[in-house]
Amino acid sequence: MNLIPLPAFQDNYLWLLHDGQRALVVDPGDAQPVRSFLAANGLQLAAILVTHHHADHTGGVDALRDETGARVYGPVRERIPEPFDALTEGDTVDVLGLRFNVFDVPGHTAGHIAYYTDDLPGDPLVFCGDTLFSGGCGRLFEGTPAQMVHSLAKLATLPGETRVCCTHEYTLGNLKFATAVEPGNTQLMHYRQQCEARRSRGEPTLPSTIALEREINPFLRARQPAVAQAAHGYDGADESDEVAVFAALRQWKNEFR
Ligand code: ZN
Ligand code: FE
Repeated sequence: MNLIPLPAFQDNYLWLLHDGQRALVVDPGDAQPVRSFLAANGLQLAAILVTHHHADHTGGVDALRDETGARVYGPVRERIPEPFDALTEGDTVDVLGLRFNVFDVPGHTAGHIAYYTDDLPGDPLVFCGDTLFSGGCGRLFEGTPAQMVHSLAKLATLPGETRVCCTHEYTLGNLKFATAVEPGNTQLMHYRQQCEARRSRGEPTLPSTIALEREINPFLRARQPAVAQAAHGYDGADESDEVAVFAALRQWKNEFR
């Protein structure tokens, strides 16, 4: 199985997984990069997996479905281009001979889902849309801090080697913020240097892994004393209240430049 991040728009990745003949694509906000890659590699599109309703994740769905006959999967609680197979937590999707487990991960949007599989020769992977980013998390457009904390905790308990396939190249900006929160985190410093080198070569920083995110992502680290203290310093958040610490971090990041 080959896992490819196709760049789109300013900083999106349309993740494509293929076995040399058949492919699936996640969150095709634009049909063109997918169309080109399929044609260049002689691939047939078998499925389109959608994590949430935003246009940069769904804009190419209708065109790709019409052109290829691919089956479309998406969250039951959201409006995405019909027809699609509506999914929620506990559902499974079988495509390309792989079984994906569906998780509800509300927060960025109210019905956001993620797709996880360990049914591969390589490490497991999760397509988590705009919920978990490397070093960061999605903005809370439709959900509460408590929902997002719960959603991120679900992702954080996946096996450490799980490849995190998020849909935006926001890593450097996120790591700049993470450094302001946790200046004493040496793993974070090291990872930030690696990512800066990758970006200067024009390479993606993704996929990340769950194990790495647990060590460097402040939004998964609200229970760490250094992170809780930083949040307290920002808005007086109660350091023993994980949701209050998370909410302070999210607000701080929104204002951070
Ligand atoms: Zn989004
Ligand atoms: Fe997005």
